[in-house]
Amino acid sequence: MSRPRGCTGNPLMLYELDNKNDARRYADTAIQLIESYDINSTPDFFRLFYDYASERDPVVCSTLREVSDETPEVFRRTAEDLLFSHYGEDRQFRMLTETGEAMQDEIMQVCQQVANAGDDVGQFGSALDGLENGLGSIEGGVAIKTLVAQMLVATRQMRVKSEQLEQDLKQSANEISNLQDKLAESRKEALTDVLTGLTNRAGFDRSLQRHCENAAASGDSLTLVMCDIDHFKRFNDTYGHQLGDQVLRLVGGVLHDGLKGRDVPCRYGGEEFALILPETDLEGGRRVAENVRQAISSKRIVRKSTGEEIARVTMSFGVSQYRTGELPASLVGRADAALYQAKTDGRNRVNLEPFAEPPREAAD
Ligand code: GH3
Ligand code: MG
Ligand code: MG
Repeated sequence: MSRPRGCTGNPLMLYELDNKNDARRYADTAIQLIESYDINSTPDFFRLFYDYASERDPVVCSTLREVSDETPEVFRRTAEDLLFSHYGEDRQFRMLTETGEAMQDEIMQVCQQVANAGDDVGQFGSALDGLENGLGSIEGGVAIKTLVAQMLVATRQMRVKSEQLEQDLKQSANEISNLQDKLAESRKEALTDVLTGLTNRAGFDRSLQRHCENAAASGDSLTLVMCDIDHFKRFNDTYGHQLGDQVLRLVGGVLHDGLKGRDVPCRYGGEEFALILPETDLEGGRRVAENVRQAISSKRIVRKSTGEEIARVTMSFGVSQYRTGELPASLVGRADAALYQAKTDGRNRVNLEPFAEPPREAAD
């Protein structure tokens, strides 16, 4: 269970759920930071320091905290780097998608115009054809007939060129569309854990943020389960990391197969997993976690080379239910606390968040 506590959260925003006074405080701090470090007062930097002040984003928090005692120059540079490295992907993706879509629209319009022009050229060519035939019967019309024939050749050449242009433009539009698909695919890959195929930590952050927003808007319940493999260090030390990785894949498979519909199984990091369960209350979350717990503890782990059964793996679980208006970090914190308690209580068990604290109403 070794991972930094506190300051957990999400780069995507739930700004509208910030209490008015808190939001004002975060904004004041952001402006103070911008002024004291003599940083450009742009919306990007304001957002960065707002996220820092509100502690909603763990990467921003830990990175800026680390350099808070350094020189202003180091702090400024780190802030600039963060803008590119941390928020850059979303911004670049949005820009590329929007630019791609705009170019595609533009090209399709030009395609249409070229096609229309091609039709006009075609009609003009047909008219010349008719004229050429008609001239055959007119006396002394040979010179005019030659002229018309030349015009016909030029018109046909023009038609071929415009058809070629139309083709080229259509191909460009297709290429842009393919690039957009590839971009979407890369983005999906960036949110997927390579070992288990589950949603990774970055994907978890985004997904939880979105589900909290949906739950706040709809009033539907939302439950989070945090789970952690028991004594996994010992397992690795005894059987090696390769078998350890196989266990992680096995757990990933059980979580993937055990959840349904809109549930989101995630690899939170290391040997920790998270289940986001929309439209599910605490009791529902407990049942899901209990099913997973039983499924995992009943799995036999066999060494492929010898067929020998070597160990059973167990997991501990902590369950918390979303409270309207809270930040994702606080939902994670309560599931985490319940998980710690499950470890302390003896592992291989599901613990619910304590009910001591009454649900907080959304302020303002
Ligand atoms: P606890 O029951 O308290 O959770 O004990 P633990 O040993 O599971 O927890 P601890 O945090 O001490 O150790 C976690 C171990 O998980 C350490 C590391 O060897 C292992 N681990 C984390 N990520 C991976 C991974 O990707 N592959 C493998 N094989 N092991 C991993
Ligand atoms: Mg752990
Ligand atoms: Mg563990």
